[in-house]
Amino acid sequence: MDIAAERIERLQELARAAATEGNHDRARYYVRLARRVAERNRLTLPRKFRRFTCDRCDAYLRPGQNARVRLRDGHVVVTCDCGAHARYPYESNTA
Ligand SMILES: [Zn+2]
Repeated sequence: MDIAAERIERLQELARAAATEGNHDRARYYVRLARRVAERNRLTLPRKFRRFTCDRCDAYLRPGQNARVRLRDGHVVVTCDCGAHARYPYESNTA
């Protein structure tokens, strides 16, 4: 794993920790940093990163805290508190 990928991984951990503490602005800050690192290094963000971040407001999503998760028609629908929806095909927790 290269340094950029490691940084993204680390930022995701920090974002999750901040979100868990209810510190969503701080979590957003880490999410944005991670996106920037990915962009600069032409990396694709890991799937679990994309799944747990809101494309609209950059929140780090914690189901039950600032996001709702529903299963529908074989899809996972994640709704952020900002109102944005994201849909993913349902699969087991491989990400
Ligand atoms: Zn959002």
